[in-house]
Amino acid sequence: MLSGRVPRIAIVGSGPAGVFTAEALLKSERGPAIDVFDRLPAPYGLVRYGVAPDHPRIKSVSAVLRRVLENPAVRFFGNVSFGVDLGLDDLLTHYEAVIFATGAPGHRGLGVPGEELRGSWPAGEFVSWYNGHPDALVDFPLHARKVAVLGAGNVALDVTRLLVKDPRELADTDVPDHVLDGLRCSSVADVYLVARRGPAQAKFTTVELRELGLLRGVDVLVRPEDLRLDEADERLLETNRQTRANVDLLREWAERPATGATRRIHLVFWRSAAAIEGDGAVSGLRLARTRPGGSEGEEVLPVQGVLRAVGYRADPLPGLPFDARTGTLPQRKGRIVDGGGRPVAGCYVAGWLKRGPSGVIGTNKADAVETARCVIEDLAEGHRSRSSDPDSVPRLLRRRGTEFVSWSDWLRLDSYEINRGQAQGRDRSKVSDLDAMLAISKRGL
Ligand SMILES: Cc1cc2nc3c(=O)[nH]c(=O)nc-3n(C[C@H](O)[C@H](O)[C@H](O)COP(=O)(O)OP(=O)(O)OC[C@H]3O[C@@H](n4cnc5c(N)ncnc54)[C@H](O)[C@@H]3O)c2cc1C
Repeated sequence: MLSGRVPRIAIVGSGPAGVFTAEALLKSERGPAIDVFDRLPAPYGLVRYGVAPDHPRIKSVSAVLRRVLENPAVRFFGNVSFGVDLGLDDLLTHYEAVIFATGAPGHRGLGVPGEELRGSWPAGEFVSWYNGHPDALVDFPLHARKVAVLGAGNVALDVTRLLVKDPRELADTDVPDHVLDGLRCSSVADVYLVARRGPAQAKFTTVELRELGLLRGVDVLVRPEDLRLDEADERLLETNRQTRANVDLLREWAERPATGATRRIHLVFWRSAAAIEGDGAVSGLRLARTRPGGSEGEEVLPVQGVLRAVGYRADPLPGLPFDARTGTLPQRKGRIVDGGGRPVAGCYVAGWLKRGPSGVIGTNKADAVETARCVIEDLAEGHRSRSSDPDSVPRLLRRRGTEFVSWSDWLRLDSYEINRGQAQGRDRSKVSDLDAMLAISKRGL
């Protein structure tokens, strides 16, 4: 570390990656002073805005993140967007090191005709809506009776489950009131979960897959012919417990007679989207068969909605190198590198922006430790020395007219949401309108 004074570090993004990096840095010998910036007035990234509301145990990871953000050496600046309110030069002027942990908020495209039709959405838009993200639509259109969800991972499972779950079972979660109203009016009766490959290749975790079979008033239908396994699949089953458990579950469902429930989930394997059909709006999804050696041919699902859970990707950040192929920042062990592979002085990356959109919340921890280690090593070398005035950045933000949200402002909004929720018999009721979030965080209600 630089001798004589506490190094000042900026972290951009208050999701798991940013906060775990702060935690790792705080454990270093001479703890730095850390400022955490987020473009939203609320912290915690996808823990608040991605994890499904009916998974409160996972949502409660926010309590772990909160403890780090409440460390006296850490300050929170919400409603401050990198690239809008602060640029790279600003941060490099005021901090010895800057860690970028802005996640992967963009959506990968499917690359098939009709993707742009009305009724075709990245699944992340639906996730943002039911989680009350301030950028989400206020009314997510749920007029379709039949919807296809494309993807074979846990996001596809979350989205499928939330589409058919009885809204009464969500009434004790933190979903905003307008989302509950929207779900109560939903017309969705059939959801087709379409996976490009077979049951042995799906990335579903068994606990989440099993939840589909436990939904009240919902039949889960599996086509027995999709469950035929080849030798390679059988070998996978022997070596991978999750795959075995998933296939066992699917076999059980394939044998279970339908109960005549009003909502149905159809699990469809070995099909990929060839085109989304419709004149202005979605009226069908053309699927191509993908099973090697299987029969050729297409089928059309008569859906009026398509949710594409085919992956997230990061957006480029102004002034920093970007790898458009992987949708991440080029880096080595967390040090951002330029086109020639040389470290960009003072700049680091963590989380989904570093690795791409994979792994659970905990995966970001080991990753954050690696990044923090590089920061600490470089600070020890003492290459960069910057302004030590802790008020310089808040002053700069005020001068620019940025209404930043401090930690105590956020706690005001947090208490408001908790009190409003408790008055309705639940733990929290989220505020999702940005102006309202700012007004409550600044002035309460
Ligand atoms: C739908 C969904 C459900 C999931 N469910 C689970 C689950 O149940 N269990 C589990 O373990 N994992 C789950 N995950 C994975 C988990 O959420 C991620 O591993 C984790 O959130 C990635 O952390 P991150 O900090 O890299 O990104 P994020 O959590 O996305 O955090 C990025 C932060 O950066 C901020 N930011 C973005 N741009 C800017 C900018 N320009 N300026 C300032 N701030 C900015 C954002 O507002 C955000 O707060 C889920 C992911 C998704 C998408």
